[in-house]
Amino acid sequence: MKSMWLNGGPGDSVSGARTEVRDPANGEILDTVPAARAEDVDVFVAAAAKAFPRWSGSVANERAERLHQIATRMREHQDALIELLTREEGKPRVENEEEIEWSANTFDYYAELGRHEVGQVLPPGASTQFNFTLKEPYGVVACITPWNYPIMLLAWKLAPALAAGNTCVVKPSELTPLSSLYLAEHCLADLPPGVVNVLTGTGPEAGEPLVAHPSVAAIAFTGSLATGQRIASLAAPQMKKLHLELGGKDPMVIAEDAEPEKAARALAYSALLNCGQVCTSTERVYIPRSRASEFTEALVEHVRSLRLGHGLQAGTDIGPMIDERFLAKVEAHVEEATAQGARLLTGGQRPESPTGGAFYVPAVLSGVDHSMRIMREETFGPAIPLMEYDAFDEAIALANDSQFGLGASLLSSDPQRIKRFFQGVQAGTIWINDPLTDNYAGPFGGMRLSGGSRELGQEGLDEFRTTKHVHWDFSTEPKDFWYPYD
Ligand code: NAD
Repeated sequence: MKSMWLNGGPGDSVSGARTEVRDPANGEILDTVPAARAEDVDVFVAAAAKAFPRWSGSVANERAERLHQIATRMREHQDALIELLTREEGKPRVENEEEIEWSANTFDYYAELGRHEVGQVLPPGASTQFNFTLKEPYGVVACITPWNYPIMLLAWKLAPALAAGNTCVVKPSELTPLSSLYLAEHCLADLPPGVVNVLTGTGPEAGEPLVAHPSVAAIAFTGSLATGQRIASLAAPQMKKLHLELGGKDPMVIAEDAEPEKAARALAYSALLNCGQVCTSTERVYIPRSRASEFTEALVEHVRSLRLGHGLQAGTDIGPMIDERFLAKVEAHVEEATAQGARLLTGGQRPESPTGGAFYVPAVLSGVDHSMRIMREETFGPAIPLMEYDAFDEAIALANDSQFGLGASLLSSDPQRIKRFFQGVQAGTIWINDPLTDNYAGPFGGMRLSGGSRELGQEGLDEFRTTKHVHWDFSTEPKDFWYPYD
């Protein structure tokens, strides 16, 4: 029976309604959390609004110390956080170790970046003038996160938002709220009351009133395209600041000069990490026709060797999908593609001995094309569709043939091809030979329907600061260009 986190302590919903959180590997109930509604949203937003003047008025050095303290607490509590994340989200323990380390480091990174500058001095238009910008916080920020990286995607929002002087109301996914509540209780409790509040509940019941609340100035959201569009429409009447990180359909191009065994390992990792449930998962693969059978055989052999299991079980490479709804979508994409002429080379079914969890044996398909849903819509699961190309320019054109533009990967050692790829492909992140590796200083985000915001880096801090330009003339004499004109 977990409580929410309000004003630096436990908080319950007005109605007392609760929802269950389950382990996706076996369906076991892990815990229950409050199901917040609009009346709770009012209370949580009021707490953050009350904390804003003092927090935004504190000096950057003080906020930096607080953020470093959060990072320290996360390292002290890492074992519990990793186990909880593995249980509620499902991916293997080793991937959650990385998620927690990344998240703690994000707080350290923004602690320092946040005290580096708060604007710029600009060249004045006249010798009597002084011009500068001030980077100021927005106020109360709603941080709405998905289930696939519950702590990392929260850290990418919370750390820069707090460093900039905002206060926050967090709404984690209803599928994975436990790790965010644990984080609040054990790692955020040293913050002044109300600076961070965590509200649990569904998108329609808790998320929508939070987005529409008049005291929420900015919304930082990571999730699906459909929800992002809904949030944008709810925020439009009040012209709120929107920070949207949406879905993708990332391509990987394997160049002719790549080595099949190495390519197979890079591709399997980038397509199957977190059971293919990464916004930047490789979801479309383009292989050279001249070497198609070598690349395909190496991939199929490698994928067949991967082990499915509970994320806490030693030796597990791939855990379950988050739940039945997401599994059904992968199944539909694979079945439709095969009905339209694609060949299923391995996997593509549920395991023979059911565990009660949402497991799916990773599918590799060949003979796909862009008329199929599996090459156009986000699949978000363990399926690897392979399409052959003849010329490298054709591969670049195919990579660009998508409504999304989150990430794109290339496997090659040829500098000519590499340059053509990073210049020609429209995506927020381009990975050469090392798919899915992020960098604290490297802005992460999308183009087109993936949303145009950026997390991480200087850009990730500026998303949570609004810019004020101050034009100051020391002279109080009337200007000769003022009225009257004659
Ligand atoms: P989702 O859109 O269903 O939910 C995300 C969050 O929004 C949850 O907290 C949910 O409760 C909330 N929500 C749902 N409806 C809402 C509404 N009407 N108003 C306000 N809040 C609402 O997404 P998901 O299934 O949790 O996550 C998977 C999606 O997230 C995929 O599409 C994936 O590509 C995307 N994603 C993107 C990135 C990125 O950085 N671009 C990273 C991870 C995941």
